[in-house]
Amino acid sequence: MATGQETEADLEAYDELETRIERIANVGNAAGILRWDQEVIMPEGGTPARAKQLSTLSSLSHELLTDERTGELLETLEDQDLEGEQAAVVREVRRQYDRATSVPQDLVEEISETTSNAHPTWMEAREADDFSIFEPTLEKLVELKREYATHVDSDADPYAVLFAEYEPYLDLETAERVLERLRDELVPLIEAIDESDAEIETDAFAGEFDDDDQEALARDVLDSLGYDWDRGRLDTAPHPFSSGTQFDARVTTRFDESDLLGSITSTIHEFGHANYTLGLPDEGYGTPLGESRDLTVHESQSRLWENHVGRSRAFWEHFLPIARERFPELEAVSPEAAYEAANQVYDDNLIRVEADELTYHLHIVIRFEIERDLIAGDLEVADVPEAWNDKYEAYLGIRPETDADGCLQDIHWSHGSFGYFPTYSLGSVLAAQLYTAAEDDLGDLDERTREGEFADLNQWLREEIHAHGKRYTTPDLVEEATGEGYTADHFLAYAKSKYGELYDLEGY
Ligand code: ZN
Repeated sequence: MATGQETEADLEAYDELETRIERIANVGNAAGILRWDQEVIMPEGGTPARAKQLSTLSSLSHELLTDERTGELLETLEDQDLEGEQAAVVREVRRQYDRATSVPQDLVEEISETTSNAHPTWMEAREADDFSIFEPTLEKLVELKREYATHVDSDADPYAVLFAEYEPYLDLETAERVLERLRDELVPLIEAIDESDAEIETDAFAGEFDDDDQEALARDVLDSLGYDWDRGRLDTAPHPFSSGTQFDARVTTRFDESDLLGSITSTIHEFGHANYTLGLPDEGYGTPLGESRDLTVHESQSRLWENHVGRSRAFWEHFLPIARERFPELEAVSPEAAYEAANQVYDDNLIRVEADELTYHLHIVIRFEIERDLIAGDLEVADVPEAWNDKYEAYLGIRPETDADGCLQDIHWSHGSFGYFPTYSLGSVLAAQLYTAAEDDLGDLDERTREGEFADLNQWLREEIHAHGKRYTTPDLVEEATGEGYTADHFLAYAKSKYGELYDLEGY
């Protein structure tokens, strides 16, 4: 048992740690605003100075985290059996501290420099449609990241270490099992859809739609879902994203005159991310208790709103009349036609970011299998294009004709991000599990969606997910919210029932 005096010392140590990590969080959040500015409004000429500003903030945050004093405080606090929120804060800071201190600074710098140079090389390779231009860089990045993983944990599978950077608590075996199941059950479902004779209304949103009117409609979408404009804003960016804190979580989207549906679904997706951030507790700001629970949970929030709400029949019954006010030409489109257009499965699409809700996961499985084998040394970098194309043929029945439409299409590997891709699918799977649990608790959600009533669902997500920040590990958070372990059951049941009905499939 701790004596009264020791308790006071613990409190001091805890307060000191809290002050320290809040400074680190402030530096990180300031960098976030600079990055937002760079993506959204900065003139191109600003790049050299911005790169220096961001690099200085990144070193500053690294120094604060890896300072000896952080280690001393963690040890002091670990000796005292803290519980609840304080124990969670110590667990999370320990994780970050161990990762940051275990990797030599010169390796960190080499990775950072290599990835900065990798970006233009990747762009060049993609434009020239020639993987060999990018190959030496990718080889180097694979080597450096493998070395990085060995420093973090020399006993662990290096790919598992890299995956844990994005999803620290769902172990790789769980991820692997879920992704294999998606592959094994979605491949036959998509084949059945290919062979279906069902007539799907695919051109409900064909035509040209003015950008300014699309922006007004994107604001209508955000209004309707309950976005808090006092703590957010909407802008455009070439690659939509959302970023910020619980006090200011911004959304970006993009408009393409020929793709109205794309701007609506992308706005709803980014709303889901921003809405999660806005639901983090104000009083947790600056500590892990006020931070989101990593990429799987983040993506579950965006996919829940995008797919389970935004691609439902009920949503189009609610939203089509709103859309018609901006675009009277949609007068002839029925909610059923809008629903079908929003859910058509593209059996000949090679590009991940243009994929539908089902084939998307095979794009992810392919990337996962390739990067896992690359890091393990089971696949040579030079053989990536062929492995990529073979897998597209095997899983989706299509073969890219070019590297640009094949293994050069995504930016992630040029950032040195290996282990990031799986979190997209893991998040979708979790979205289905959470949506099912919310319906179990709240009753029929479609009825509310049809009325444009999203407050109950949002409140449920606030209480079950957002309010906890990083208080629980991912598996515990899922268990607390849904009463069961993380599982793909709900996603697969949802996918089979929805698409079985839509495409009139026998046996689904
Ligand atoms: Zn997302």
